[in-house]
Formats: sequence, structure tokens, C-alpha cells
Amino acid sequence: MNMQNNRNETIATSTEASGPVLGSVSSPDPVPIPVAMGDGIGPEIMEACLYILNEGGARIEPIFVEIGEEVYLSGHTSGITEKTWEILRKHRVFYKAPITTPQGSGYKSLNVTIRKTLGLYANLRPVVSYNPFVPIKHPDMDIVVIRENEEDLYAGIEHQQTPEVVQCLKLISRPGCERIIRFAFEYGRAYGRKRVTCMTKDNIMKLTDGLFHKVFDEVAVEYPDIESEHWLIDIGTAKLADRPDSFDVLVMPNLYGDIVSDMLGQIVGSVGLAPGANIGDDYAMFEAIHGSAPRHAGKGIANPSGLLLAGVMMLNHIGQANAAERIHNAWLKTIEDRVCTYDILRKAREASADDGDYTEVGTVEFAEAVVARLGKKPEYLKPVRYSGRPIMLSKPVLKDVRGKRMELDGVDIFIRSAELSADELGQKLEGAAGEKFRLIMISNRGQKVYPGGYPETFCTDHWRCRFKFIDNAIPGHSGHAGGHAEIRRLLGRIEEDGLEWIKLENLYLMDGKRAYSLGQGE
Ligand code: NAD
Repeated sequence: MNMQNNRNETIATSTEASGPVLGSVSSPDPVPIPVAMGDGIGPEIMEACLYILNEGGARIEPIFVEIGEEVYLSGHTSGITEKTWEILRKHRVFYKAPITTPQGSGYKSLNVTIRKTLGLYANLRPVVSYNPFVPIKHPDMDIVVIRENEEDLYAGIEHQQTPEVVQCLKLISRPGCERIIRFAFEYGRAYGRKRVTCMTKDNIMKLTDGLFHKVFDEVAVEYPDIESEHWLIDIGTAKLADRPDSFDVLVMPNLYGDIVSDMLGQIVGSVGLAPGANIGDDYAMFEAIHGSAPRHAGKGIANPSGLLLAGVMMLNHIGQANAAERIHNAWLKTIEDRVCTYDILRKAREASADDGDYTEVGTVEFAEAVVARLGKKPEYLKPVRYSGRPIMLSKPVLKDVRGKRMELDGVDIFIRSAELSADELGQKLEGAAGEKFRLIMISNRGQKVYPGGYPETFCTDHWRCRFKFIDNAIPGHSGHAGGHAEIRRLLGRIEEDGLEWIKLENLYLMDGKRAYSLGQGE
């Protein structure tokens, strides 16, 4: 029998200054915790989890808060009321079942809003193999995905620019990178992890993903006791799908981390197994990684395990290590006894395991099975130990780059035109450039189409037109006094030529170095 390398002992991180509920190890009083029952399968699995936590000796006092679908539909486009914000801000630790984001562009994701409003910059998602009880191909898989939680494309800044083109802004900040990457290494060090792997796509997004990779390399040298490596996200994900047991701690920008952790959740048997913690300097939120699975709502069949393990992480976070350990070990014993919900049984059947060994149960029966095993430990899977010692993530002094010298080098002006060809547009803009600017190139969807474009290149109605100050375009010169005024005059000339500019991006030199990407073919 294959034994798993079960090290998901503690996930909690906090600082001692993190609020009234932390450091309550010695307090006999129950800790007030805001609890959201959620939507879809949310109420069923949360009810099961609260029952287990209570029976397992958790000293918590749930304060039920309303968020999600009903709140959205009652007119709060953010899915949360002011009163709930007050409760979350007062109690600082939040236990949340999945919610449904209604379809439609008027509704913002509440999960993203909560993470960003409360500064929950680190998303921890441990994914552990429970082979052979949840049979999978990778018996030794034991990965912690540490996902940046506030930035990237999840800034949600999107605009329709022309009838044909929409845009989503990918925002990556240096402090954002540094905080999450330091968190990953601190986590690795505190929990005896060997290696931290960073994944980005910086061969294409050289500035945004390039910054994440650069900061990773800078921070990694401060942790010589932990191996570090970087993979491009495409081939890295392929390797993860094939050999997940060769990875340890992963750190990545928001979108990649979201996708990769769901993929890994499925590889270990079910997304219903994986917990998540969202941690900031002052607040923490614990939830399953999966959504509200509306198709399964009301059937009483959903797997409460991901939400339960998130609750276990929360107990450790608030200093209740004994209850966390007791509940987690009882859950492992339940898995080991092959008592499972439909999703795990399906996995077992796919792996041609003898399904006669399994007892399929619903959500409530699964909770009862865990409660019946409280006080027991798994025999084959490694029992967990919780220390109740939160990781001290002392707020690091982040590298301050705000004083960098910024010089205006030129401007990218975006123009809408459905009628003009690249050459026709180029000729008009050569005239508009005037004495101060040189038209460097025009690109369409990032591909250079002027000068010297090819007729085969498909063009939309959205043109990026790059102008540089004539002074700066000459090597050896930098900086341009009155640059913004010149750009306004250039825009005026473009308007006079009957062209419609839709937005602009200034081109800067930072400490004398180009701080914008070149167009494909520039
Ligand atoms: P989902 O994760 O809700 O469900 C996808 C599938 O995974 C389900 O059909 C089911 O087969 C399986 N599954 C998920 N949880 C399970 C469980 N506990 N037990 C057994 N099987 C489980 O993803 P979705 O269908 O894309 O999203 C549904 C809704 O959830 C959407 O409105 C989405 O916005 C929301 N969502 C919420 C959160 C959150 O609250 N944290 C996260 C992701 C998605």
C-alpha cells in the first residue's frame, strides 16, 4: 500500500497583531466568527462543517452573515451589505461557504471584493494526495499553491475600446510581488519545505510577469536554505499535470494560481477535497476552493471536506490546535475507512478500485462518520500535528522604488478606424507627428503593421500608434521638458485630421531604461 506524504499539518499564518481572535489559546470563551452559509451547496456543506467543528471541540461562536446571491438580487451589486462589512472588520476572521455570482456584467465577484478590501493578499491552497483511499496516479503529491490574491487580471479593469475590441488591464505591482513571494519563502521555511517554484509567462509578458519573476529571483537569494526555480506557466503546468509529486511550494500570479490550484484539486480526486485560506496582515478568510455547484444544490450529496479542512486551518489560526488536530485526524480516518461522497466514489471507479470497499454517503452522513471517528487517528495516512503556533510573518520592509527617475519618452495613441488601411493611417499620422514627434510604428493587436506591414495580417478597428519625441528617439538623449503639453498638441492635430483617438499610454524611461514593451516586429 502506498503511503502518502501527508504534511498539511498547519496552514495558518498570522501576525500577533492580527486582531482580537488571535492568541486565544488560553481563553476558554468561544471566539465569535462571522460565518456565511453561502449559496447552492453552500448551506448544506457549511451546516455539516459547523456540526463537525462543534462536536470536535472547537470553541467558536458563529455570527451568521448574509452575503451572495440574495444580497446581489436585492440591489447590492457588490453582494454584501455595510452591516456585514462592519461585522467582518470587527471580528477579523471569516468562515465562508461558496456563493453564486449572478450572471451579468452588473455584478462584481464578491470573493474578489472581500479579498481586496480586507487586504487578503495571500491565497494558500494545499493539495494533498490521499492515495490509495482516493486513488490517483500520484501517491506522493503534497503541494501548497500560494497564489497572489489581489492583482493581475483580477483587478477587473475592463473596457470596450472599439466596436471590435475589448481590453482587460493586467496590473502587477512590485510591493504585491514582493509580499506574496516573501510569504511563500517564509511559509516554506516555517513548514520544512524544500523548494519554492515560481511560474509566470514572462517570455511574452516581459514587464508584468517579468516583474514577478525578477522579484522572485531577488527574494530567493535571501533564502539559501530553500531551493528556488522558475518555470514558464505553460510547460510548468504540463509538468504539474504529469508529475505533480515533483513539486513542493508553488507561487504564482493570481490567474495562474487560480487555474493551477483547481486543476491540482481535481488531480487529487475532487475539487471538493481542497481547502483555501486567504491571509492578510490583519484579516483572514477560510473557504473551500470550489464554487457553489448549483447543479448539486439541495440533493445532500456534496462533499463538505474542502470547507471542513478550511475550518481546521481556521481553528489553528485562532489558536485552537487541539480541536484542529482532532477533527483533521478523524477526517483522515474517515477517508481511510473509505466512507465517501459521490465524487470520491466516482474517482475510485475511474481508477478501477474495488468499489465494494467504499461506502457512499451523503453530506450529512459523511459529517456523522467524521464525528463518530473523533479521537481516532488514521493508521496508514500520516496523522497531522498542529502546533497552534502561528507563523510570524513580520511585515517585511519592502524595496522602495518610488523614487525612480521617470522621463517621458513618447506616447502610444490608440485610434479607432474601420475604414483606413495601415498605410493610409500611417501616412496621415506622419503628417500629424509634426516637428516634435516621430511616428515609430503602428500595430494592430500587438503586431506591427506600419511601416513595412504585410497584407496578410488581419487587422481590427483598433490601432496602436507609437510616437516618440524626436530628441529621445535619437540615441544618447533622454528626457523632454513640456512633454505632456506636446502630447496634447499632437492629439489636437490628430483630431483635426478627422481621426478618433480612444486612449493613450505614456511611454516612460525609468532611470534611463525603456519601461514599455516593443511591438511584435518593431
Ligand atoms: P463549482 O466549483 O461550483 O462546481 C464545478 C463542479 O465541481 C460541480 O458541478 C461539481 O461536479 C464539482 N464540485 C464542486 N464542489 C463540489 C463538492 N463540494 N462536492 C462534490 N463535487 C463538487 O464551479 P462552477 O460551477 O463553475 O461555479 C458555480 C458558481 O460558484 C458560480 O456562480 C461561481 O461564480 C461560483 N464560485 C464561487 C466561489 C467561491 O465562493 N469561493 C469559487 C468559485 C466559483
